Amino acid sequence: MEIMMEEVKVRGLTLKNIKVNEASGYNGMDILFTIQDQQYNFMIAKTNPIMPLNILHRFSEKSICHVCNRTIYPYPVGNQPCLELKKLDKLILDKLIKFLPVK
Ligand SMILES: [Zn+2]
Repeated sequence: MEIMMEEVKVRGLTLKNIKVNEASGYNGMDILFTIQDQQYNFMIAKTNPIMPLNILHRFSEKSICHVCNRTIYPYPVGNQPCLELKKLDKLILDKLIKFLPVK
């Protein structure tokens, strides 16, 4: 199952290439998206109500995150939370929730 959606704007950030996948290993979803060509994985728990868990960098090469300004190593080494995006997790979820396959 994969869902693609239009870009979404949150607090001046533009989220693009948004893809939703069932998570492996827990009852949730992985929402992949890019901001300025850097990829992130927004992990969501399919609880009621649906809950944001974490937002991880998922970079293909070592680079400075445009959101938190930290140097991030490529995935899977640099699979750490983006603490600045984490502050916006509920806002981001509010924008995405209508596209998600949950009741
Ligand atoms: Zn970051």
